[in-house]
Amino acid sequence: MKKSFQLKGIAAAAGIAIGPAYLMGKEEFAIPKEPITEKQIPYQIQLFEEALIATRREIKDLQTRISQEMGHDAAEIFEAHLLVLEDRILIEEVISRLKRERFNVAYIFSEVLKKYIGVFSKIEDEYLKERMSDINDVGRRILRHLLGKEHKTLEEIKEKIIVVAHDLSPSDTAGMYKKNVAALVTDIGGKTSHTAIMAKSIEIPAVVGLGEATLKIKSGDLLIVDGSMGIVIVNPDKRTLYSYQKEEAKIKTLTKKLFAVKGLPAETLDGRRLEIAANIELPDEIEAVKQHGAEGIGLYRTEYFYMNRKDLPSEEEHFRAYKYVAEAMRPYSVIIRTLDLGGDKFISQFQVPTEMLPFLGWRAIRFCLARPDIFKVQLRAILRASVYGRLKIMYPMISGIEELRQANKIFNEVRNELKQKGIPFDPNIEVGTMIEVPSAAMTADLLAKETDFFSIGTNDLIQYSLAVDRSNEKVAYLYEPTHPAVLRMIKNIIEAGHAAGIWVGMCGEMASEPAFALLLLGFDLDELSMPSFNIPEVKQVIRSVTSKQAHQIAQEALTLTTGKEVEQFSQKKLREILK
Ligand code: PEP
Ligand code: MG
Repeated sequence: MKKSFQLKGIAAAAGIAIGPAYLMGKEEFAIPKEPITEKQIPYQIQLFEEALIATRREIKDLQTRISQEMGHDAAEIFEAHLLVLEDRILIEEVISRLKRERFNVAYIFSEVLKKYIGVFSKIEDEYLKERMSDINDVGRRILRHLLGKEHKTLEEIKEKIIVVAHDLSPSDTAGMYKKNVAALVTDIGGKTSHTAIMAKSIEIPAVVGLGEATLKIKSGDLLIVDGSMGIVIVNPDKRTLYSYQKEEAKIKTLTKKLFAVKGLPAETLDGRRLEIAANIELPDEIEAVKQHGAEGIGLYRTEYFYMNRKDLPSEEEHFRAYKYVAEAMRPYSVIIRTLDLGGDKFISQFQVPTEMLPFLGWRAIRFCLARPDIFKVQLRAILRASVYGRLKIMYPMISGIEELRQANKIFNEVRNELKQKGIPFDPNIEVGTMIEVPSAAMTADLLAKETDFFSIGTNDLIQYSLAVDRSNEKVAYLYEPTHPAVLRMIKNIIEAGHAAGIWVGMCGEMASEPAFALLLLGFDLDELSMPSFNIPEVKQVIRSVTSKQAHQIAQEALTLTTGKEVEQFSQKKLREILK
């Protein structure tokens, strides 16, 4: 009987999942160190050659499968892996050390691999870092063959597993879409880190910020992941397992019930209507978006489009994706957010140097303004696709009016170029601004005069205004959407927008929490955009209250002095309303 224990982390994506653990990128082998005689050397070299051949076959098979399932671009990644197998320096070093030191080849190879990885890990270069991960990946495959161990990659596993990792990069999580992943569990991360956002998109539970999950959990351990409470139970006893299985069934029934409202409008009891839209990361999510009753897409995070590939997407590729989304969502609108690279979303093609404070660094609109060549490709594609549906554009991370003007200037240049060439586009396309930097929140009155709408990005707005890294679990207790400073800022942004006659929405995760949606309704927000999974419950809340009640709740919340008080107060009001 395996030891049973519980780990507490941060609840990142709600729901319950039960399944075996799969430790990603953390597979350790016990490598025997055995002296060999001179006579055994040729046999050890033969073992090494056989392992290289078997690894090549394995990678080739994987490449063919991925190419069939996900297209040629996705399979391209394995080319670099195949190159590692032909690295003469690595191969010769193994053979010469084998002859000189006379230990078994698995041991010698693991030593050479460690040396390589050690050298690469000290170099501050994104390209070389990626080479390191290629070498690591292939090296482990070779070791497995040398040691006769069987290990399946995520692509090769058929059963539903729970991924346990120290951290997951945005490209790791993007690659998990439609895979057999039942839940995500990570050592680091906060409520709005990219792992949490992606888990919600794929509609699987996630617990992040567990600290040492990868040290305590072994591959194959049975896990219960409670994404609502932020708990992971390792090797549960029969009773716990049974009670969670019952809970899982209960959630399914409740979700089904909530689905009854999905097609109804988000309208208060006295007829005030809010627009409820969905956030997406990949065009593949459109089906789920429609199933959950979204009235449009309020945030399309296009940076995922640049991931898991070695080159930049061409204008045609952008265009095809946006045209598809525009047509699929008709008659509803789709807000395409322009590239938000940086922060916790890195893209290796750009070779952005490592920064001390990436969230405060060269990211989002700052990057696009510095690289108008890249920015224009995306803007042109959006404009061209705008005739196929109702597209809107939104700039991320605007910190003041100058940046907005510069972005609009580039946008107008692109418009004029298309006009001159006679290429059609929607001349009335709305161009909005994300308000996610405190300086933008405080100058919202100025920005509102030169933009068509606001969408409040609370994930970043909270981290910047409270000085709390959104992906750092150690300070996650300070990350409070209900902090009085945040509430006042939100109120200010909405009032400034309305005074200038523009609509104001919210696409940060705060919009997806039913209790907070109640407050936001009371602040007169016009649109809420969230992971599609949350849409039915938020609609249900809005349909259960009058605007007068919501106004009173929001007013009272503003008189409270701490984030905790506001949180408890709004949860209490929510319970009263839903009874
Ligand atoms: C936000 O900051 O609230 C937001 C929606 O953008 P992202 O999470 O992609 O930074
Ligand atoms: Mg943001």
